[in-house]
Order: sequence, then C-alpha cells, then structure tokens
Amino acid sequence: MAKRVYLFSEGSKDDRDLLGGKGANLCEMTSLNLPVPFGFVITTPTCREYFENGNRLPTLLEQEYRVALDLVEKQMGARFGDPENPLLFSVRSGAPISMPGMMNTILNLGINDEIAEGLANKTGNPRFAYDCYRRFIQMFADVVLGADTHAMEQVIEDYKDEKAYQTDVAMEAEDWQAVIGTFKTMVKFPEDPFEQLRLAVEAVFQSWYTPRANVYREMNNIPDSLGTAVTVQSMVFGNFGEDSGSGVAFTRNPSTGERLFFGEVLFNAAGEDVVAGIRTPLPVDAMQERMPDAHAELLAAQAMLEQHYRDMQDIEFTVQEGRFYILQTRSGKRTGRASVRIAVDMVREGMINEKEALLRVSPEHVQSFLHPMVDPDAPRTVIATGLPASPGGATGVIVFSADEAVKVEADGEKVILVRRETTPEDIHGMRVAEGILTELGGMTSHAAVVARGMGVCAITGCGDLRVSVQEGIATAADGTVIKRGDVITLDGASGEVMLGDIAKVEASTSDDFQTLLSWADKHRRLKVRANAETPEDAAKARELGAEGIGLCRTEHMFFASDRIDHMRAMILSKDRKERKQHLAKLQEFQHADMLELYRVMDGLPVTIRLLDPPLHEFLPHDQADADALAERLKKDPEEIMQARNDLAEVNPMLGFRGCRLSVVYPEITRMQVRAIIGAALQAREEGLNPYPEIMIPLVVNVREIRLISEVIDRGIAKVTKEKSVSLRYKIGTMMETPRACLGADRLASAVEFMSFGTNDLTQMTYGFSRDDAGRFIPQYLDAKIIEDDPFVSLDQRAVGRLMRMAVQESRQAKKGIKYGICGEHGGDPRSIRFCHDLGLDYVSCSPYRVPVARIAAAQARVLADRDD
Ligand code: PEP
Ligand code: MG
Repeated sequence: MAKRVYLFSEGSKDDRDLLGGKGANLCEMTSLNLPVPFGFVITTPTCREYFENGNRLPTLLEQEYRVALDLVEKQMGARFGDPENPLLFSVRSGAPISMPGMMNTILNLGINDEIAEGLANKTGNPRFAYDCYRRFIQMFADVVLGADTHAMEQVIEDYKDEKAYQTDVAMEAEDWQAVIGTFKTMVKFPEDPFEQLRLAVEAVFQSWYTPRANVYREMNNIPDSLGTAVTVQSMVFGNFGEDSGSGVAFTRNPSTGERLFFGEVLFNAAGEDVVAGIRTPLPVDAMQERMPDAHAELLAAQAMLEQHYRDMQDIEFTVQEGRFYILQTRSGKRTGRASVRIAVDMVREGMINEKEALLRVSPEHVQSFLHPMVDPDAPRTVIATGLPASPGGATGVIVFSADEAVKVEADGEKVILVRRETTPEDIHGMRVAEGILTELGGMTSHAAVVARGMGVCAITGCGDLRVSVQEGIATAADGTVIKRGDVITLDGASGEVMLGDIAKVEASTSDDFQTLLSWADKHRRLKVRANAETPEDAAKARELGAEGIGLCRTEHMFFASDRIDHMRAMILSKDRKERKQHLAKLQEFQHADMLELYRVMDGLPVTIRLLDPPLHEFLPHDQADADALAERLKKDPEEIMQARNDLAEVNPMLGFRGCRLSVVYPEITRMQVRAIIGAALQAREEGLNPYPEIMIPLVVNVREIRLISEVIDRGIAKVTKEKSVSLRYKIGTMMETPRACLGADRLASAVEFMSFGTNDLTQMTYGFSRDDAGRFIPQYLDAKIIEDDPFVSLDQRAVGRLMRMAVQESRQAKKGIKYGICGEHGGDPRSIRFCHDLGLDYVSCSPYRVPVARIAAAQARVLADRDD
C-alpha cells in the first residue's frame, strides 16, 4: 500500500506531485537545515482517494498520521492535546501547482478551554493564548463549520466599541475570553484535538472544489485530477509579543524585478494578519533594530534559498520571541516586467541559462510590455496614493463588489473594482476588472499578489481612501468623495488614484525585453508572421518582430467607409458588366494597399488571400440600410433589396464564400491578381523586393485549386509579359475544411504552400457555427463537456488529428512543402506548442501577439527538446 504520510524529513523539492508545492518545499528546507517548524504531509493521492471513496477519509489514514505526529511531538518537545505542554498545528492545503489563497487553511488547531489555559500558563502570556484560541474558533467556524464569520467579526467590533478600544492590540486575555464566551453561543466545535485535526484534513481536501479554486484552475489550466496535499505543521507565533512578528518577503522586487531583497513585516501579529492586510506592514528593515538576529537570519536564508532554487522566492517567516522561523518558500509571483528582468539578470549572474530564462517568462506576461501606461505628462487630479502593487494604467467606472464588476463589465463597461481588501471570493470580479484598488493590505496582500499574477493594474494599501462598500462611496483624506459609477484612473506604477479618464501612452519595451526576445529568436524553430492587411498594422507587426505576413484578408481592405460601398455594389451587381465596373474601382484600392504592404514588408513574404467575404457581412441588413445604400449608389432601392434577398443565405458561414466565389466569378480573381502583381511590379521598380504568396481559401477539392491557379497563372503571365519582367511568387491553399485535410496529399501536389485556417477548420470539425457558438460554449465549459473554448485554444485531439494527418500526407506527396497556420490559434501559446510538434514552418497571429508567439515558439522548442 502506498505511503500516505511523509515527515518533513522524508521528502524533497522534487516531490511536488506527491506532496504539493508547499509540502515539497518544506521538506527541502528541512534538509537544508533551515529553521522550519517540524511537521508532516498527507499526500495528493490521498486526496484523490478521498473523493473516489465518496468523500470519506481512508480508514487507516488516522493511524498513519498519528505515527508521524508522535515523531513531530518528540522533535518539538511538546504534545498535541496536552494541556500541560501543548503543541498546536497549522493545517494547510498545497497543490502540485501553486494556487495562492484558493484553498483552505486552519491555524492554531489543537486548542480548547483546558488547553488555552495550559498555553497561558506555559507561556506566561494569557493574552496571547486567548488570542490564539479565538482565532482558531473563527477559522474553524469558517472553514469547517461553514458558519457566518462576519457575525463573529461583528462581535469583536462591538466589544471593542463598548470598551472604546481602537485596535485588537488593546484586547487583553479577559477581553478575548469574553469574546470566546459569545462565540461559543454561536458555534459548536469539537473540543477533542484529534477530532479537530480529522475534520480539518477533510475540510482541506474539500476545498479543492470550492468555487474560487475551480475558477482559478480553469483560468490557469490546472487539471482537476491533481488534488491537494495537506501540510500539518507545528505552530510558531508571531503574535507572542513585541519581540515577535510575521512577514512575507521576496528575494527580488516582484513589481520591477530589481535585485533588491524586498519584504514586509508586522510586529506582534500572526502570519494571516499580513496576508489579509489587517494593518499596513512595515519594510523588513524595521526588524534590524528590534530583532537584529532574526533580521540577519532572514537575510541569510533568503540569499541561500534563491541560490538553491535558482529563482526569485516568495518567503513567509515568523519570529517568536526573537527566534526566526521560516514557514514557506515558493517561486514568487511577479509582474511581466519583473519576470523578464529577473530572467535576464539571472542569466547574466550565471544562475540560469538562456533556455531556462525563456521558460521563466509566461507568454501572457509579455503583454505588459505592450499595454498602455498612464501618460506621465498628462494633467491629473490625484485624490489618493497607495502602493504600486501591479503596473499598467487603468480607467473605468467604480464598482464595489465582484458581482457588480461582472455585471457592469458584461454591459460593456470597463470597471475598477474598489474594495477595503480583497479575498479569494473576489476572484471572478478581479478577473474582469481593468484595475483593482484596495484601502488595506501591503504589496504582498491577496489583491497585490493575484493582480500581479493576472497582469491586472492594482493599487493596494491606499489608506488615504476610506472605502464604504455598503454606502457605495470612498472618501479621500482631503474630503473628495467618489461613488459607484464614477470614472477613475489608476496608475499601477506610481500608486496614484486619479479622477476621470487620464491619457495613456503606448507601452514601451525595455532592453531586457529585447534581449529576451533575441534569445527567443535564437532558440525557436517556428517562424512568426502576422495577420495584417492595413499598412499600419503591418508596420506594427514588423516592429514587433513579424517575419512576414501570414494572412492578408483582402476583403478587410474594403471595410473603410470610402470603400465598402464599392464592395457591396460589386456583390450586388446584376451582371458581369456591372461587376467589372466596380471591380475596377476595387482594383485601385487593392493595388495601392498592396504596394504599401510590400513597402512595409520589403524582402519578407506577404501571403495574400483571395477574397473570402462571408456575404452577410456585406449585404444590407434591412430595408433602411438598403435605402441608404441605394441613394449612395444612385440605384433603385427595390432592385437592391431584390438582389439582397436573392443572395441571402441560411447559413452564410457555410455559404457562398472563399474559393467558391472565384470559381463562379473568375473576374474577381483576375482583378485581384492584377492588383497584387501590378503592385509588386511597381514595388520592384522602386527597388524593393516584394514576395507575394497568393492563397486560395476554403478549398475542398484539388480541382478548385487547379481551376483558380490557372486563372492566377494566366493573369500573372499577362501582367509580367506586358512589363517584360519576372517575379518571385507562390500559390498556396488554406486548409480550412475537413475534406481538405482528408485529401491533403492531392492538394499538396497542386500548390507550393499550405496554411491551416483553424477558425473554419474548428467550426467545420465541430459543426459549431463561429458566429453562434458563443451562446452555448460557456455552458459547455461549465459542464466540463469541453476543457477549453476550441476557438481560443486548438482542440488537439480532433482538429489536431486532422492537421497531423494533413501534414503527414502532404509531405509524403511533396517533400518539405511549406506549412503554416493563420487561424486565431496561431497566437495561442498552447496551440503554438502543438504547431511546433507538428513540424509546421510558421505561425501567423495578430500584430500584438507577435512577441508572445516568439516567446511561445522558443518555449515550445526548449520543452520539446527536453521531452526527447
Ligand atoms: C480561418 O478560418 O482560420 C482563417 C484564418 O480565415 P477567416 O478567419 O478569415 O475565416
Ligand atoms: Mg477561414
């Protein structure tokens, strides 16, 4: 039978899967001889067993952990449940992948009336003993008994009001005893410490499926099957007195990445006070005077841990009566900018290599180099300043609760979530917020850590602002009142809260960012192109490192207001003659745009897709629209309406689009070829090096390709002959239909490149309409019928299977044929990994995703090489 319980002396950091991240790191620190209060871990398979057993703890589990508990007692020189010499425990969750604050924790476990009295006698500190006891009752009531803990908080507040106490610190042992007396009338909890432990272990397992944990796993793609370990650790106490304290520290600055030890401490406070942001903590330097030995030990421990783990660490520590203890270390959450700086610095410091540095940066974090910041020169009215917890500039309307945030955001508004402090229950609101502002809490509070992880702008510890959630207002120190629905701007870099919408500046890159991207380029195999059709987008894409255009949707070139009517008129033309007239106009636009694209992308391939206009996007929507169009085109509205009705489709996404248009109206293709090639020749005359790749959309059959290629080839021959020049170009096909994938070998024989249009391929593989699937995909996700939205992250199992088959067969038919992807998935990191493994040549994505894709492509290569 597998061992279910491990002492801290029995595991190592490599046991994350078995012991959870927290447990594994506690074992590792124990083996490094760091001062870790001793304890044991119940494994993650036990959690799975618990659920498989119909939510019952394995029968033998208690026997097993009692053996470990005996050994812990021996080491700690105290006994669990012994009033003479009590040992208390913390009972915490710990998954293989960190889920900070998402699951349950119980502290000070193993206490009852008798033991509280014993603890008071043993420590000579009754105030402390009864503070521990009341904290335990509150946590146990919350986590295990599911009681209304706000009512319990209110009991304390009322008691303090009655006594005119300003803070908890004024509460003496008798005060806490009185409060506990009231608590006991409100909840019934087990007096037996072993029963407390049993119930706490169960509660931690159950917290694997709390709504907030479910949301977090979904957001971070953590499988439900992992389960959590339970860490049972001897308590040490930061709330023992003035020579005690608790703190959280980062080995480098988690906001900027600067190589400066960065931490916060609260004296005479328990660890949970720091995390909850009850009081705003002090910088750790404050320890130097009050507890110099502990301060020195903290500095030594943090340096050692960073060296040992070769990554920035987030450390929790406690000092009890001047003695330093370390309670946790983990890889620290950080902003995008910090993650890049730390990764690059660590390579320079010789701590990690370039490939490891690339894996340290989440592709999503790259976005923070690409998003706007508050313009430092913009005029502003600052009403309060808090801690710059997570950078970026954010403007939105104020909401005071997570539910409200979700509601208002769904109405299309940008929201700023304003709270006194955040808790994990707020996660759904934080997820949709543009920015987060809290009155309480330090740089390491829940709000700060979670916002940084999500890359959302946040200001915490904004004590200048009194937040009243009930009244829906916040009052600044100068008397300014902001209320629900007002617009404010947050500057996550300076911590300033400003009235109104303040100008932002485009995101700036940094030298470190460029260095990292250059490493990405060195280590990736996949090329990265952009989907762009306007010269501005193309220029941005090239600036961000695009190595060509992978998809120019030519119909998008006609969206502008001065063009769309020509496109509509062309579609609605009653005969070929009229269509040709409008095509001539469209050719002018297309020629001019193509020339600009060639200029911007000089020397790089530009993949131009032949027209693929889903007709409903261009047809008049109703009579009024038809009337207006008729007036502009000087046509009869009846005639327009008639043409519209003739062309209307039941299912436009599967309708008369893509190459079907070229087959029926070859004059459209001829016009496009004249524009594409004419512009290329003009570019050549300007001394440029244009490289058009003409791509045929929505193909199902090789004969479509042959027919259209002939039209293209003839058109090109005609234009080049007139000018007596040659031109480098390619003809390729999109792979967007299941039939194309199933007959890929035949298609390959007729083209020079192929590119997966996974938007359509997903639509057609699933039979989910791209335009309508939004109505049921959220429910499918909720019901876990699908793990991810297949239009966001490639469905590797089925769509991916078609792709794999297509690539293999195509390459058998035509060795080394160039293959790309230009569906939205081309910018999705997980899909990019799949494309790498598939052996594609390039991915193509929207311009701002290009740096993300460069990093993701490098990570794919590094990880794939590791797997080999
Ligand atoms: C696709 O289908 O994946 C594609 C890139 O084409 P569009 O999105 O224009 O249909
Ligand atoms: Mg398509």
